[in-house]
Amino acid sequence: MFNSLSDRLTGTFKNLRGKGRLTESDINSTIRDIRLALIDADVATPVVREFTGRVRQRALGAEVSGALNPGQQVVKIVNDELIQILGGETRRLNMAKTGPTVIMLAGLQGSGKTTFAGKLARLLRDQGHFPVLVAADLQRPNAVRQLEVVADRAGVPCFAPERGNEGGHDAVTETGEGTRSFGDPVWVAQAGVGQAKVRQYDVVIVDTAGRLAVDEALMDQARNIRDAIQPDEVLFVIDAMIGQAAIETALAFSKGVDFTGVVLSKLDGDARGGAALSVASVTGKPIMYSSIGEQVKDIEVFHPDRMASRILD
Ligand code: GDP
Repeated sequence: MFNSLSDRLTGTFKNLRGKGRLTESDINSTIRDIRLALIDADVATPVVREFTGRVRQRALGAEVSGALNPGQQVVKIVNDELIQILGGETRRLNMAKTGPTVIMLAGLQGSGKTTFAGKLARLLRDQGHFPVLVAADLQRPNAVRQLEVVADRAGVPCFAPERGNEGGHDAVTETGEGTRSFGDPVWVAQAGVGQAKVRQYDVVIVDTAGRLAVDEALMDQARNIRDAIQPDEVLFVIDAMIGQAAIETALAFSKGVDFTGVVLSKLDGDARGGAALSVASVTGKPIMYSSIGEQVKDIEVFHPDRMASRILD
């Protein structure tokens, strides 16, 4: 995903690393190269401005110290600041102290939510948890079935709003919580979480509906589900391929559902990806996972320091 950004920055640093002394004009020309590389990679303009401002300030004030020559010191500053832009520390899942940990997924249609639900469930299952998926995306006719397929691949159960217990899947009707419509995603989400409690699953991952664009009805529904199930995490899944639109979408979801963490999906693609990298900085919310393919194993915990090294090495 970040090949071209990485090549540009590495090229800039190659000249710098060997330098014994750095003049202000060396620093200025380095900052200019970095700015252009970030802009070309689609990094959001305010993020580029803040980033280059901080690098410049620190580079000009840097004392020559220890084992690093001035060029290497600038490279280190860029690395440190990139880690900050990407969210600083690795942020782990916030697990509930009692009862199941409830994780709600939100994002636009096609962003990769359903696929990610399976990946996360599998990752947690491999860590010794007992996750269950809940199909509260009732917008698309096929979404419930798709989540069931994903659950099968991940080897975890799926609570779906079906009458009876078809296909070996648990039906949310079993909780018997009232007689509200099967078409009500808030009820389905609540009933699914209720059933997970009864059956002692320790993680519930609730898939919700997306639309092709942000709209009020989508946000209202997501907010209603969130308020009903009181999740420990609301993860916002964003397709890294959508370019600059990622920023606007992330801000809309941040305002709409106040998500707690970001999932960057489709990082295996060949888009420039800088907009997705800006999401943590623009929203102030940490990136927690990256999704790097269509298979259930294609998930990584997001480590800002490792991502920075991957981009700069
Ligand atoms: P949803 O509408 O948000 O639930 O999105 P889906 O999970 O259905 O994903 C939409 C499409 O993107 C599907 O064709 C997925 O196979 C594909 N997809 C999801 N995640 C990834 C990923 O990390 N990499 C790639 N290459 N494709 C993905």
